[in-house]
Amino acid sequence: MITFEEALNRMLASARLLGVERVPLAECLGRVLAEDIVSDLDMPPFDKSAMDGFACRRADLPGPLRIVEEIPAGKMPEKAIAAGEAARIMTGAPLPQGADCVFMREDSAEEAEEMVRFTARNTSDNFCLRGEDVHTGDCVLEKGEWLGPAHLAILATVGAVEVQVAKRPRLGIIATGSELVEVGTKPQGAAIRNSNSPQLLAQAAQCGVLARYYGIAPDTPEATRAAIARAQAENDVVVLSGGVSSGDFDFVPQALADCGYKFLFDSVAMQPGRPSVFGSDGQTWCIGLPGNPVSTYLIFEIMLRPFLCRLMGHDYRPRLVRAKLAGGTVRKKAARQSSLPVRFVDPGTVELIEYHGSAHIGAMTRAEGLITMPVGCLEIKAGEEVDVRSL
Ligand code: AMP
Ligand code: MG
Repeated sequence: MITFEEALNRMLASARLLGVERVPLAECLGRVLAEDIVSDLDMPPFDKSAMDGFACRRADLPGPLRIVEEIPAGKMPEKAIAAGEAARIMTGAPLPQGADCVFMREDSAEEAEEMVRFTARNTSDNFCLRGEDVHTGDCVLEKGEWLGPAHLAILATVGAVEVQVAKRPRLGIIATGSELVEVGTKPQGAAIRNSNSPQLLAQAAQCGVLARYYGIAPDTPEATRAAIARAQAENDVVVLSGGVSSGDFDFVPQALADCGYKFLFDSVAMQPGRPSVFGSDGQTWCIGLPGNPVSTYLIFEIMLRPFLCRLMGHDYRPRLVRAKLAGGTVRKKAARQSSLPVRFVDPGTVELIEYHGSAHIGAMTRAEGLITMPVGCLEIKAGEEVDVRSL
């Protein structure tokens, strides 16, 4: 049994980029950038008014000032501002030569025809300098960044019509278990519905990878092998749930080995998820998750998500929030790291989500985060501060 950190490090160390592709800007959301983006211009491209108001010389305030021009956004000024003059200017319009300040329309009184006076006591300069946000040639986004809406805005600003991004890993998802039926079937007798696969497909989609479902493999070595072989031929990563423990009908580790996978680990000091297995055949990777829905869910979050991100060249950093644990928690054994789902009761305090066991996936719908009890820790006291990892 190896520690969680060691297991995750082995997974991340085995990952490599699966190639790159160019995609239109509009399709970049949720992709990982595979090139540095350099700006082809200054932003702002000119000294720019930050207000609707009047551009003038500060020394001339409070006026009265003669209005010599109107400068809407998108128009170049035609006149330089001389002593005693002002230009009516709009937000985003270029500052005229000679002006060193813009006072707000709200701080103005227009007196006689085309004359204006500054009515407040003082004013900021209210303009932005050319290049104050970005200079031509600046690297505005670095390779490996996860592209969110703000990233798309900066890509648009610098004219990135097409963007080089990491190829999306293909994930083949297999459920194992002779007790499982598909969601459209009412389970009879000892059967239950397959909930892991829809959940894994959804988690994969959230990661921006391409996931495909390969059905339910009943608990026989042949069926398990056949499902793995199919998924292995068509994907970069094969993800199985169930069948990894030491029960009489747990055939996944042997079937993976039969398909050419060498394991990087087959037991991790974590709770839940101890019997998780992970390996590679040199070309593709496989991971076998315990079938209990809570285990499947959590191990995807803490292991598979960072691994999939790494396959796209992105260094996934979970978002951690410091909060107090209401109520505290104790346990009897400390040989494994525990992941405990929590919810916020107020912005600085979390409480444990009550769940009856690893099958109680409904409890996860209330989970907003995870806290960790490290190896060796038997108790988190009531009110003690913990790192909450966002879910
Ligand atoms: P296993 O890891 O195969 O021993 O399964 C552990 C528990 O998880 C058993 O109670 C299974 O019935 C349940 N289980 C396994 N696979 C799934 C699945 N795809 N959806 C829902 N429950 C599952
Ligand atoms: Mg099973």
